[in-house]
Amino acid sequence: LIRVEDLVKIYRTGSVEVPALRGVSFTIERGEFVAVMGPSGSGKSTLLNILGCLDTPTSGAYFLEGKDVSRLKENALARVRNQKIGFVFQNFNLLPRYTASQNVELPLIYAGVPRRERRKRVEEVLQAVGLGDRMDHRPNQLSGGQAQRVAIARALVNNPSLILADEPTGNLDSRSSEEIMAILQKLNQEGRTIVLVTHERDIALHARRILHFLDGKLFKNEEVDNPIQANIRLSESGEELFKEK
Ligand code: ATP
Ligand code: MG
Repeated sequence: LIRVEDLVKIYRTGSVEVPALRGVSFTIERGEFVAVMGPSGSGKSTLLNILGCLDTPTSGAYFLEGKDVSRLKENALARVRNQKIGFVFQNFNLLPRYTASQNVELPLIYAGVPRRERRKRVEEVLQAVGLGDRMDHRPNQLSGGQAQRVAIARALVNNPSLILADEPTGNLDSRSSEEIMAILQKLNQEGRTIVLVTHERDIALHARRILHFLDGKLFKNEEVDNPIQANIRLSESGEELFKEK
């Protein structure tokens, strides 16, 4: 699904050049759950932004589903981003004046999906993250964990093949973090590819593979033998998110 070759990213700010990625190569197969770890400033977010087509590398290649997207102009890049990628951020990035369902609906409006279908899809994904009873709440009326679940629903609504999450549990307590990890694991079991940035090892161990970064370089590829299975009970709603089939 993903192949990067000798990826380099140099940020130029005035006369200062910061090399954030210094020659990174790896592949991620469809259906994998990969965590990216490393100290602050090691290039994790830079990498995720490139994988998410929010930014392009200074040099090197990025193949997404076999297509080199590293030289695309912003319009083409945005198209790839909207069709194939769901993004989840540490600070949720929800629009404060919009309700949960309006936030989740936005990508569908951009994609030109008709209203009736939008409604149905929004309800489906909010229910899938256990928030069927919070559709009309605004972000400030939700707990952090719930807000992040809205953000995951928004990332999911276009049915992307790739989900990228940058420190999605960074602002959450351990219980909410477990809920988020349970949802990500469930999405992965359903076949979605997930790349998750975290600097907490306990979070990274929910993935099946960990890429360790240091100073803009990949220095270790660690297979996780027994990924931790997250606690799957949802605290506030009390409902069980994932019933046995
Ligand atoms: P953290 O764990 O703190 O989030 P990170 O691993 O995500 O760190 P990056 O955000 O990728 O690190 O940053 C890597 C380097 O690139 C840092 O030295 C940072 O100062 C620099 N950098 C990141 N974004 C920019 C930018 N937009 N402009 C200039 N320099 C940047
Ligand atoms: Mg970061």
